Amino acid sequence: MSEIQLLPQVREFLQRSHAHFIDGQYRAGTSSRHVPIVNPANGEVIAQITCATADEVESAVAAARRSFKGEWAQTSPYQRGVVLNRLADLMEANGEELAQLETLCSGKSIHLSRMFEVGQSAIFLRYYAGWTTKINGETMSPSFPSMAGEQYTAFTRREPVGVVAGIVPWNFSVMIGVWKIAAALATGCTLVLKPSEFTPLTLLRLAELAIEAGVPAGVFNVLNGTGEVGASLIEHPHVAKVSFTGSVPTGLKVGQSAMAANLTRVTLELGGKNAAALLPDADIDGAVAGLIQTGYVHQGQVCAAPERIYVHRSRLDETLAKFTAALQGMNIGSPLDESVNFGPLANKPQFDKVAQFLQLAREQSKVVCGGKPLARAGYFVEPTVVLANGPQDRLLHEETFGPILCVLPYDEVEELPGLINDSPFGLTASIWTNDLSRALRLIPQIEAGTVYVNMHTFLDPSVPFGGIKASGTGREFGSAFIDDYTELKSVMIRY
Ligand code: NDP
Repeated sequence: MSEIQLLPQVREFLQRSHAHFIDGQYRAGTSSRHVPIVNPANGEVIAQITCATADEVESAVAAARRSFKGEWAQTSPYQRGVVLNRLADLMEANGEELAQLETLCSGKSIHLSRMFEVGQSAIFLRYYAGWTTKINGETMSPSFPSMAGEQYTAFTRREPVGVVAGIVPWNFSVMIGVWKIAAALATGCTLVLKPSEFTPLTLLRLAELAIEAGVPAGVFNVLNGTGEVGASLIEHPHVAKVSFTGSVPTGLKVGQSAMAANLTRVTLELGGKNAAALLPDADIDGAVAGLIQTGYVHQGQVCAAPERIYVHRSRLDETLAKFTAALQGMNIGSPLDESVNFGPLANKPQFDKVAQFLQLAREQSKVVCGGKPLARAGYFVEPTVVLANGPQDRLLHEETFGPILCVLPYDEVEELPGLINDSPFGLTASIWTNDLSRALRLIPQIEAGTVYVNMHTFLDPSVPFGGIKASGTGREFGSAFIDDYTELKSVMIRY
């Protein structure tokens, strides 16, 4: 099979020098520090970015603060919704260009880039656009005694917090970036976004589209560079909120520096080691198909994806046989080939990390299917299923963020809450059964931000998403995001 042709505008974009987008304009970087951008499908350098200096961090935050107090503050909620909707339209109109750029940087299949990085992002933008006109406070009637006929009334206002620092990982850099852009702009905040150094390009192009959509200069800025750029943004005294998505170790540092900086409010969307439990009555064909779809999508590099699978012992052989048959039928290859459904890992550090977990699997567990890196250019490994050596197998406890599902058989359904909750993480979990009564009894016992039944990983803008325990704090989507991006101001009036 063959790869799709790159669009001329994608080739042209790659030829540019890449740095930052500040105050409505592209800014060539001034630093001598550059980071190469590598195509993970073949290991070739496709571009490089210039890291932001302290002056550029200052300039981006100053632009965001000026627009927060200036033009954006004068923009009506309705008009904020209009520009978010226009940005969604422009994402779709330029969808193929955005999708190709993102696939080149991240190794994500072109289908996924089209469907999620572009299509789902547009859906999220339109959802948040609808909220702009519905962010309201409440009215109250205080019960103070009236001494001389005076009366009292009170109300609350939801006011935007100010400049938001959005820090984005490499796995779904556009869609996760859009969650932060949409939430900030819907509530009237302004934003400085720091993409991952591995996937910095598409968000720069999105910043240009935002200007075309009518987002005023300075409302949405992009600063590129390594983690140090993110760290200096968090410490900036004019950053009012940090919205971070990434790993647990970095998230802990981010939370601590935000608190130390200025008691800066912070939401952390961190990692997961998500459990799927197949009950004795589970439809094994449906469960395996669902877990293949969600456990190996983007090569397992999805925070909400299932990584540990608890299967009733009576259904174990059947389940493993079906996993093996499905994985052997996967077409591994270039993410720009439309017939491929399993591509490379996104970058070299991630490849090295997953390769170590595969070695661990070969040494201490039983590899059912896959289990090795592939000897070819780029960062390819086999989609893998492992049978755990017992409940304490490291592959049941450590996040691989890769295409490795670890299976453990159990005997009694009553064991499941203990097994599922035996984890530092609490992002998602799924129960596979047609016994609704059993599922409903299990749900309150499971420590996770989202529990799915007969599905896993799907995210919808109307359903709040976030983790408990080491998986983070705060919620995105639904109406829950409003609390995190606004301050509640109380007003009391005597009359
Ligand atoms: P990292 O935590 O390594 O990086 C996330 C972002 O933080 C990147 O932009 C990174 O920049 C930046 N960064 C690194 N160090 C600092 C610092 N000291 N201060 C501020 N910012 C910093 O995560 P990955 O990019 O490796 O992403 C993978 C992880 O993200 C996985 O653990 C996964 O589970 C989690 N994740 C969670 C999601 C959720 O919603 N819960 C969704 C997606 C991923 P740079 O890349 O340049 O180092």
